Amino acid sequence: MLGWLKDFISLIYPHLCASCGKTLYRYENCVCSFCKVSFPKTNFHKEKDNQIAKIFWGRAEVYSAAAYCYFKKGDKIQHVMHELKYKRNYQVGIEMGKLYGLDLAQSELFSNADFLVPVPLHVSRKRQRGYNQAEVIADGLSESMKIPIDITTLIRGTSSETQTKKSHYERWKNVDSIFRITDLEKFKSKHVIVVDDVITTGSTMEACVQALLIVEGIKVSVVTLACA
Ligand SMILES: [Zn+2]
Repeated sequence: MLGWLKDFISLIYPHLCASCGKTLYRYENCVCSFCKVSFPKTNFHKEKDNQIAKIFWGRAEVYSAAAYCYFKKGDKIQHVMHELKYKRNYQVGIEMGKLYGLDLAQSELFSNADFLVPVPLHVSRKRQRGYNQAEVIADGLSESMKIPIDITTLIRGTSSETQTKKSHYERWKNVDSIFRITDLEKFKSKHVIVVDDVITTGSTMEACVQALLIVEGIKVSVVTLACA
């Protein structure tokens, strides 16, 4: 779009930084330059045995794990996550993914991966939000890392599947988070990075990793934008 036209439009509909709320300049996208350099980055991608990797110790075999930023209440990154999850601002997810992708592409723990796999969202929630925020982040990562996204091999089972022929305990154990693989060949001997927005206890990620680990020779890594 023509520069003056873009400036004119932003006079009427100002584009605001998704992190601090200040008006953006024409050359800025979703997040202002100041916020970009002042995010509380973890730099976990530079260190193998980091805080996120440790979450999975004794639970699931994860090749490498990292989160872009520390997440604290009232923090800049909380505003970004809020915009992404509840304000239909999917562009900020792409932009954050692009930024993080630049860092991850510099790390040999991640740069050689074959696929980015967003954590699948419930169909109903995707319909409600209009998009899967993990997919949006993966889009940005993919652009910076030059690694393709796969959204068809790891899927979330439907609730009807949960009900059929399962004991009460199994049903309880599977509470709305069954993930499964649709193709055992696609990820064979590949390095796959599972992508999500936030990691807290790691239980959703663990369920995804477990589902993927049935594939022969697979290496599974984990990345998120924020960690609690
Ligand atoms: Zn800002």
